[in-house]
Amino acid sequence: MLELDQVWRIYEVGDSEVVALQDVSLNIDDGDFVAVMGPSGSGKSTLLQIIGLLDRPSRGRIAVNGEDLGELADEERTRRRLLTIGFVFQRFHLLSGMAAIEQVALPMEAAGVPPEERYERAADLLTSLGLGPRMEFQPSQLSGGQRQRVAVARALANQPRLILADEPTGELHTEDKANIIELFRRMHREGRTIVVVTHDQEVAAMAERQFEIRDGRLREVPA
Ligand code: ADP
Ligand code: MG
Repeated sequence: MLELDQVWRIYEVGDSEVVALQDVSLNIDDGDFVAVMGPSGSGKSTLLQIIGLLDRPSRGRIAVNGEDLGELADEERTRRRLLTIGFVFQRFHLLSGMAAIEQVALPMEAAGVPPEERYERAADLLTSLGLGPRMEFQPSQLSGGQRQRVAVARALANQPRLILADEPTGELHTEDKANIIELFRRMHREGRTIVVVTHDQEVAAMAERQFEIRDGRLREVPA
């Protein structure tokens, strides 16, 4: 389904270059659960941004079902991202001062879902993640684990096929971490494709396929 073929990402910084990804090739099938482990600075976020259509390879190709995404205009890439990909981040990336239900409804507004359906779907999602009684709470009124569950609900808002997570438990305590791990398992059982980058062995252990990244080079390791 998703294919990276000899992908390089080189950042230009002043007169020098940072090679963040080197010759990365990767095939991800529908329904796969993939974890990428690597130390800080190894290229995890860069890889996820390329898979998530937030960035483009400097060299190489990214394709979905055989279609080369490098050919697509920015607007089309944005549309695809909105409709097919859900992102979860380490620091949640919620908007301060905005109620949980509004945060979850927002991507649906961008996707053109009518208001009534937006709020109904957002309420259902939050309820299914155990946040029914917290729908009107703002991020500052929620715990770390609750914030991350709002972020997961937001990622699921447009019913994406693919969930990408960048160190989703990095800011969480043990119990919250266990809850989020269980949520990823559930999303996988529901048929979603999941790619999580992490330096947490416990998080990586839930995946079916594990990769290691070092200095921008990716290799599969036995799960
Ligand atoms: P990780 O997520 O594994 O910590 P990153 O993908 O963020 O790693 O970074 C990989 C390498 O690329 C690092 O050396 C980092 O300093 C560099 N890098 C990341 N983003 C940029 C950028 N926007 N400009 C220049 N260098 C960058
Ligand atoms: Mg990172």
